[in-house]
Amino acid sequence: MAFSSIIGQKQIKLRLSAEAQRRGSGAYMLSGPEGSGKRLIAEEFAKALMCPDCGPDGACGVCSNCKYFDNCTTPDVTRVYEPSETKKVRVDFIKDSVVAESYLKPQFARTKTFIIDFDYLGEESQNALLKSLEEPKKDVVFILTSSNTDTVLDTVMSRVTEIKLDQYSDEELEEIVRINCPGLEDAKIKSAVYNSGRIPGKAISLAKEDSGVSIRHEINSIMIAMPESSYIDVLEDHLDVLTGFKDDSKIIASSILMFLDDVSRLINYPDCRKINNGMDREAIENFVAVNKHINTLKLGRCSEAVNTFLRALEVNANFDSAASAMLLRIHEELKK
Ligand SMILES: [Zn+2]
Repeated sequence: MAFSSIIGQKQIKLRLSAEAQRRGSGAYMLSGPEGSGKRLIAEEFAKALMCPDCGPDGACGVCSNCKYFDNCTTPDVTRVYEPSETKKVRVDFIKDSVVAESYLKPQFARTKTFIIDFDYLGEESQNALLKSLEEPKKDVVFILTSSNTDTVLDTVMSRVTEIKLDQYSDEELEEIVRINCPGLEDAKIKSAVYNSGRIPGKAISLAKEDSGVSIRHEINSIMIAMPESSYIDVLEDHLDVLTGFKDDSKIIASSILMFLDDVSRLINYPDCRKINNGMDREAIENFVAVNKHINTLKLGRCSEAVNTFLRALEVNANFDSAASAMLLRIHEELKK
């Protein structure tokens, strides 16, 4: 990971890598809407500051400081992100873990870095930081982030160098979505970008919702083919499709359960108006019509197989073996 692995924000990356190579001290405020990639840039900047071999692309990625950074085990970087139990970070935490810490020497790197998400800092905590921000020691860098600088005290803003994130181009947003949702069709990528307000985080979540729909569609096709499938079809073709969605095993499971639920509804209430997979209704109706041998009992056993699959993954079973066991049990129930 180096600056070049972050898409877009070219000027900012150039500026920050120059700052990192200069190893200056100071306080920076990265500002931009939620989901715009501030944290990614803040982390990469902090890593560059840690790395003794930092170059124009930021951290080298291979030295021991870079390794410590990646494992979050360096004592020279402090992150203040969203607190787990309260809405805002406690002021005592700021005083003890940031202000007091900032007076200590770095242990491994030349710089001590604090990354602080100001979205979670109340007025009192911001005030507690003022003195440290005003006169940062020569080996201390503060990287602050904010989604809305209106909630940041003026006295803070006057002490930091604000760096506003640039807008992303369509091409950059499409590339970001493509990397985060591999296999998604171009038209869906474009539509996610179009509706994202040019915010990469939003584009990714829209695309993920959309890929959920495409997983369901693919799963429906497998299930519909199941009664006519051979043992080999199941272990080769159907398993291949599931493996392609490996990272979304919960969506795989819920898609199969939704299909089974639709079949059961259509068996019991052929005219029922609402089914889960409205988009594939005709195909599922046809499936019910031509597979009279399938009954609620068989469907119940298929659902059990899905739950067994989920339980196996919870205890870290191998995906392929859990998925093939599930497919074979479903096949056993649905085959002609
Ligand atoms: Zn390094």
